[in-house]
Amino acid sequence: MWQAEVRVDLDAIRANVTRLRSGTSAELMAVVKGDGYGHGMLPAARAALDAGADWLGVCTLDEALTLRRAGVTAPVLAWLLAPGLPLHEGVAADVDLSAASLDQLAELVAAGRQAGKRVRLHLKLDTGLARGGATAADWPALLDAAAKAQADDLVEVVGVWSHFAYADAPGHPTIDRQIAVFTEGLEVAERAGIRPRYRHLANSAATLTRPDAHFDLVRPGIAVYGLSPVAGETFGLRPAMSARARVMLTKRVPMGTGVSYGHTYLTERETTLAVVPLGYADGVPRDASNVGPVRLAGRNRTIAGRVCMDQFVLDCGDDPVAAGDVATLFGSGADGEPTADDWAEAVGTINYEIVTRFGGVRVPRVYD
Ligand code: PLP
Repeated sequence: MWQAEVRVDLDAIRANVTRLRSGTSAELMAVVKGDGYGHGMLPAARAALDAGADWLGVCTLDEALTLRRAGVTAPVLAWLLAPGLPLHEGVAADVDLSAASLDQLAELVAAGRQAGKRVRLHLKLDTGLARGGATAADWPALLDAAAKAQADDLVEVVGVWSHFAYADAPGHPTIDRQIAVFTEGLEVAERAGIRPRYRHLANSAATLTRPDAHFDLVRPGIAVYGLSPVAGETFGLRPAMSARARVMLTKRVPMGTGVSYGHTYLTERETTLAVVPLGYADGVPRDASNVGPVRLAGRNRTIAGRVCMDQFVLDCGDDPVAAGDVATLFGSGADGEPTADDWAEAVGTINYEIVTRFGGVRVPRVYD
């Protein structure tokens, strides 16, 4: 018997990868960072590879090494590397690594020497996100240094890449601008003698809406998990995650009862309260207090009062609810239950954050 669980439908992940693959002739990197956006990095990675993903994308060296230690042999790119990491372990494990500055390149070259291996390198250009990536001003010097390291057989420049700022708003002018800056950056690279096998720029939104940004490799994340990166569009994706819990206790209370910490909710009449054993330690945002939607006993309801660390309360009126009934926080929406998008809207965040939060340690994740 379970108390609360997060279910992950691996068939949905496979179907989403198949769907994404069918829309491009580029190779596909399934992004599985952040513990597979809360779905479990290894199961998500394996499902994506089963369905034809060619690459896996992660942020940290640790994530990449975890994939390798689990026996994953597909190409893996890791791109968020602070100074001082044991990068030689990544090089030794054939992890592709990203550099956006001369210092990062120097660290990678040193790691390659230590590992006794050529570094598989992706050079990152900042085309307008102003996050990781070399600025256009710093790009030529980075290319020259990489070309020299490549000539010395210390690195292989496998990729040149960048990331969009606004792909979730199709038609936004920054999208064309970033594609243009990227194309120009590739020309500068070519003049420096760098012709990478993989030029890559597209996240889920661009994979789904901008074929002209696919280049050689697309990098969808959220769409792999069946959630749309663009408000109001589903793109035929299947949400993979659902979250539910069994009611722990019900009780009748009189009108005017203050519910949960701070009594931010007062019952408007005599009613049945149902206590659900999930809280912010499990991923329920505290911002869902008095706004989070939950389906129980055939009806969608709103959380009554504050979300606590381990539980929240639903006001069920005179509906017949009992301890042990299943409360669904979100799922595919097929049975009328709320979706991760409904939660994101209620809480004022994005679907990415909702599912990633629910990949916590306390609620068991169950795979279908
Ligand atoms: N590429 C990079 C560099 C990212 O950081 C991410 C995620 O944020 C992705 C691709 C995948 O993005 P999305 O989940 O929007 O498809």
